[in-house]
Amino acid sequence: MSKTLIIGAGGVGRVVAHKCAMNQSTFGEITLASRTKSKCDQIANEIRQKWGVSIKTDAIDADDKAALTALIKKTDAKIVLNIALPYQDLSIMDACVEAKVDYLDTANYESPELAKFEYKEQWARKEAFENAGITGLLGSGFDPGVTNVFAAYAQKHYFDEIHYLDILDCNAGDHGYAFATNFNPEINLREVSAKGRYWENGKWIETDPLSIKLVWDYPEVGDKDSYLLYHEELESLVKNIKGLKRARFFMTFGQSYLTHMRCLENVGMLGIKPIEHKGVKITPIEFLKTLLPDPSTLGSRTKGKTNIGCVFEGIKNGEKRKIYIYNVCDHEECYREVFAQAVSYTTGVPAMIGAKLILERKWKKAGVWNMEEFDPDSFMKELNEQGLPWKIKELGV
Ligand code: NDP
Repeated sequence: MSKTLIIGAGGVGRVVAHKCAMNQSTFGEITLASRTKSKCDQIANEIRQKWGVSIKTDAIDADDKAALTALIKKTDAKIVLNIALPYQDLSIMDACVEAKVDYLDTANYESPELAKFEYKEQWARKEAFENAGITGLLGSGFDPGVTNVFAAYAQKHYFDEIHYLDILDCNAGDHGYAFATNFNPEINLREVSAKGRYWENGKWIETDPLSIKLVWDYPEVGDKDSYLLYHEELESLVKNIKGLKRARFFMTFGQSYLTHMRCLENVGMLGIKPIEHKGVKITPIEFLKTLLPDPSTLGSRTKGKTNIGCVFEGIKNGEKRKIYIYNVCDHEECYREVFAQAVSYTTGVPAMIGAKLILERKWKKAGVWNMEEFDPDSFMKELNEQGLPWKIKELGV
């Protein structure tokens, strides 16, 4: 029987734990471990009541590689799902190499001291993963994650060459707060307030934060202002989808979110360097996180839908073609199923699916991989079966 270790008991970790329990024949004995064990216990109670499945819980500081390696050995896990924060990616990957177990995450490595994310250090572990004979699957959330799989699927079934890619991420949910973030506030605000970047004709073009906007008509949601951001899946997609001339990422933001974020930034509350306050060192963005609503508590109050998808334009059999692949997810339906809002749900379900395909050996190969490097068909099938159905629309060119 398989054994599974999930690390992180925030909004996304909750969804992953529920979904693994709902697929217990694949995941076997499940352990949920995090820095704060009481959060794991609460989720374990929910799962026992809702699905009649018992999971184990434990406390772990995943920055401590030796302690984590010992926990992996103690649980006898065959796979580790890293649903903590991007800061922990490298120590968890290294513990997996040491213990020789498969690894998966949903966000690429970032150092707490530098608001910059790139795959370099995770890709550098490819040889170590090959030598250990283990699979490392990077970015198995929605974006990155499902967006990469959509790209592989479009490439396999719809195009000879994809020339233009726009990833369009809309959260039209309303949680009733003037300002809150739908996943970890620190990670979210670092990403949104950073300079934008997109790829065109073989090079990266940098833009001022939120300076490029388009209005997109999202099916089941309607017209929304969408702002260009740099997003991590662009880095692997421009490498792995041959023939791309341009790749961009857009995300919707409401005016209230943007006004609050600009104000917080202007007064220095998004700072990532420690400052001295009354003789105590504090990091402004960490203090802000303490003040903001915990994203894992937004589920019960969020209404509305998310729509995340990709528009591809290119050539098939000498003809121009443009298609749109997307998923629509309803916040309240997600809460009814797993006590979480749709942003956590759309991240947690693909994390479970990626791990399921590794355990079933459909996506099992030694090394470190991004999602588009595997055959997309089995993942696309699982999305339809596990709660994230997708649609394809032909658009005029
Ligand atoms: P949360 O902040 O809600 O949860 C993070 C969890 O990780 C908490 O339980 C936290 O513990 C735990 N944690 C933090 N540091 C450590 C550590 N050193 N050791 C052990 N556990 C630790 O975040 P989310 O659930 O919202 O996000 C989880 C991940 O998902 C993030 O990496 C985020 O970037 C990613 N994500 C990816 C998306 C995608 O589509 N690919 C979209 C959205 C999110 P404690 O409670 O004690 O603080």
